[in-house]
Amino acid sequence: MKLATKLIHAGAEPDPSTGAIMTPIYQTSTYVQAAPGQNKGYEYARSQNPTRKALEDALAIIENGKYALSFGSGVAATDAVIKLLIPGDEVIAGNDLYGGTYRLFTKVFEKFGIKFHFIDMQDPANIKKHINDNTKLIWVETPTNPLLNIVDIAAVVSLAKPQNILTCVDNTFASPFLQNPLDFGIDIVMHSATKYIGGHSDVIHGCLMMNDASLREKLYFLQKSCGAVPGPQDCFLILRGLKTLHVRMERHCENGEKIAHFLRSLPNVAKVYWCGFEDHPSYAVAKKQMRGFGGMMSFELKNDSVDETKRVLSSTKLFSLAESLGGVESLINHPATMTHASIPREERIKNGLNDSLIRLSVGIEDADDLMEDLKQAIG
Ligand SMILES: *Cc1c(COP(=O)(O)O)cnc(C)c1O
Repeated sequence: MKLATKLIHAGAEPDPSTGAIMTPIYQTSTYVQAAPGQNKGYEYARSQNPTRKALEDALAIIENGKYALSFGSGVAATDAVIKLLIPGDEVIAGNDLYGGTYRLFTKVFEKFGIKFHFIDMQDPANIKKHINDNTKLIWVETPTNPLLNIVDIAAVVSLAKPQNILTCVDNTFASPFLQNPLDFGIDIVMHSATKYIGGHSDVIHGCLMMNDASLREKLYFLQKSCGAVPGPQDCFLILRGLKTLHVRMERHCENGEKIAHFLRSLPNVAKVYWCGFEDHPSYAVAKKQMRGFGGMMSFELKNDSVDETKRVLSSTKLFSLAESLGGVESLINHPATMTHASIPREERIKNGLNDSLIRLSVGIEDADDLMEDLKQAIG
């Protein structure tokens, strides 16, 4: 079955009690049992909920996985993956990560004795150099946030597999429409479904997808035991968002391409970061593992003073100044003071994230209107 059909039908069975075509919001905390231990597969809603189950079934299918687990946020999903580890274990992660992931790793898990190496992952040889006997997980974000660097997923798998190192890809930026890391042999895919999967900026949600049954058991145990589960209303909203993912993503890609080239043509723009440019250093890898390049991009102004950067950030009318991404509406963001403020400044600058960098999440409005808005703001 093709993705467009899967997105509409995956996991969706008419409700057994009424035939309702949409999975109801099962707003319940517990389930009545016929006799002690005799139930219909549902005991307590932290462990199981039918709305969540319908969503998890759908999420697994659209990421080409066997299993999926939903969480109260993307960060909660990441948290569960790191809890597979024990003190002394080491993790290799990118040096251009979502700020909240970096904060979780360094401020929460380092104190439990897990060691993180934040490295440039664009060159597989550099990843190889950091692998040792304690390496238990390689955490990949590709395309990276906010610099749109690309990590070669197949190369990561070929380094990790022979040494039994677990691999996880944060696939939030690409969405399952553009990239399916499980197809390359990655063990776990993580999404902040808050972004493209939900798509309407109205819900916080995260998920993990995987193929291995024992890995699913371990992660289900953590989902249930640590309790960062989503409510049924949120699951319903994500289910609804899923049904239009392909239509939205096509427009995000179309608008993204137009706007990336348009930004490059503006005299006041110094550099545009977008993985769809043929002269992007990892264009060949992006082409190999992605079906399109999406609507995320960043740029720097020729006049990179704080005042000019702030002026542009406050001048757009259609692009709203806000954190987050992947919704139908266009957003503009200042990583240094917003999404990536939790990364120390010197660390940011070292990795190429300058104070003047501006990030765009290009929405699905009319591209001409978006370009006009950027033109009047940037000049
Ligand atoms: C937003 C985001 C997260 C965190 O997800 P939440 O749903 O906000 O908890 C993780 N990774 C990336 C790439 C993100 O953009």
